[in-house]
Amino acid sequence: MISMQLPSPSLPQFPTIVRALLAATAVLVAACPVAAQPTVEYALGLAPFQKNVDYDKLTADQAKGATLKMEKEGGLNAWVVRGPRGEVLRSFADTNGDRVVDRWSYYKDGLEVYRDIDAEVRFAVGDIVAAESPLCRSGEVLKGTLKPNQCPAFGKECTPRTPLGATMVSSEGACAAHYHFGR
Ligand code: SF4
Repeated sequence: MISMQLPSPSLPQFPTIVRALLAATAVLVAACPVAAQPTVEYALGLAPFQKNVDYDKLTADQAKGATLKMEKEGGLNAWVVRGPRGEVLRSFADTNGDRVVDRWSYYKDGLEVYRDIDAEVRFAVGDIVAAESPLCRSGEVLKGTLKPNQCPAFGKECTPRTPLGATMVSSEGACAAHYHFGR
């Protein structure tokens, strides 16, 4: 994760690669200059992961009157973008105190209408490792170069009750379908 240089050690940084997000859980890549102070332009350039969100956007002229400042939001540090009339346009908050933005809020007419959340922070799942079994050859199954029953683990170490790979986990996966109907 790459972050911006900040004016104070207590201020949250913008991650360059925003990990898993929630509103829907997803990934957003937000390019920002390394070792640079966040700017209004940068903050206004961030966008919701979901498409078709109706939130306030400024013209280039209006953006000249916008500000970006660190504010306290319910005890949290947040970078807040305000429009020329002082209305909140965006809020990017650090909810766990690690000095990295993990909540991205978008506003319309002063009301928050959309929020992306870093699911790794929200659900504390960052340390979970989901390594695939070395026995699993689902990559070949997915490419069509190996039939499920040609996998040595098929029906032995790997069954729908003890799946080793995604293609056996889902009932619609090739290995599970072959297990149920193809044998
Ligand atoms: S999901 Fe199971 S059967 Fe399918 S390739 Fe992986 S280990 Fe083999």
